[in-house]
Amino acid sequence: MKQEIKNMAGEIGFDLFGITTPDILTNDLQRLVARKKAGYWPVPFIEQNINKLVDPKDLFEKAESIISLGTAYNFKVENEEKYFISNYARGIDYHLLIEEMMNKLIVRLNLWSKNKYKFKAFVDTVPLLERAVARKAGLGWIGKNTSLINEKFGSYIFLSEIITDMKIEPDLPINPKCGDCKKCIVNCKGDALKEPYLLDSQSCLAYLTQKKGYLTENEKSLLSSHIWGCDACQSSCPYNQNIPESNHQALMPILRGDPTEILNFSRNNPPKQWQNAALSWRGMRILQRNTIISIVNNHDLQYLPLLKNLIDDNSPIIRNYAKWAIKELEKGN
Ligand code: SF4
Ligand code: SF4
Repeated sequence: MKQEIKNMAGEIGFDLFGITTPDILTNDLQRLVARKKAGYWPVPFIEQNINKLVDPKDLFEKAESIISLGTAYNFKVENEEKYFISNYARGIDYHLLIEEMMNKLIVRLNLWSKNKYKFKAFVDTVPLLERAVARKAGLGWIGKNTSLINEKFGSYIFLSEIITDMKIEPDLPINPKCGDCKKCIVNCKGDALKEPYLLDSQSCLAYLTQKKGYLTENEKSLLSSHIWGCDACQSSCPYNQNIPESNHQALMPILRGDPTEILNFSRNNPPKQWQNAALSWRGMRILQRNTIISIVNNHDLQYLPLLKNLIDDNSPIIRNYAKWAIKELEKGN
């Protein structure tokens, strides 16, 4: 039965698949409690109730198994723009592709099991520690950078899962393979990896670029030239070198960190490829804010005329950041 399910997942296009039980993630519960005690809680953008995060049955009470799925998104494309956007966010919103693939898989599972079981699909939007589930299902190990790492595909993987009341033999977790390596910690841009496996979200650039509102002086300077996300702890990882290209052309990174394009977004009508990208979930204003801060951090005088166009923008945050940026750039002249 297990092999048939895996065959179906592979035929639909998933790169990784494994099965686990829906028991409480006891080790992760202990880890999160310790993290809270150490002061690195709450973690932004996830459920704050730790007990919910570690209990898959909170999502489906009658669950018997979890099918953990991985979709690889590595492309050998240059990403050396001065204004950085993480590769995962430069293509279409992966939720769209993965939801479509999961729906196809559920149709096949229903046909195959003659509608005897229930299948509930989740990608990234529910209170569940997806990486912990994937680790338990044997998709990879949790690296010191807190990413899930697979020996073949590295850590550039989108995770999703199908929870079912069908009983399926679970797979076994694999042993961590980081060894003595510390490259992710040494290369961390925000000094956010406080120790192996412990991430301080408040200094992580991936979080700061998504944090709304006004940033502190320290946060602005940490941002450096990052418009969205940060890949340093992944791109420095030995397991992300020489990995295969993704088969999912729809995920190909196409957006570029181009301040001219971003600062010219009109409020309600940014180009479609930006609206359909994974980075659109926090709105376009945050991209403009980060771009303005990055321009100041780069002391990039060529964008002064564009910034001047924004001083009567209808967003108070953009107006204020534009005025601040003009002052900073002219001060250093
Ligand atoms: S995303 Fe960047 S800042 Fe965050 S842990 Fe990784 S390297 Fe550090
Ligand atoms: S860089 Fe090294 S320590 Fe960090 S996750 Fe990769 S293998 Fe593990």
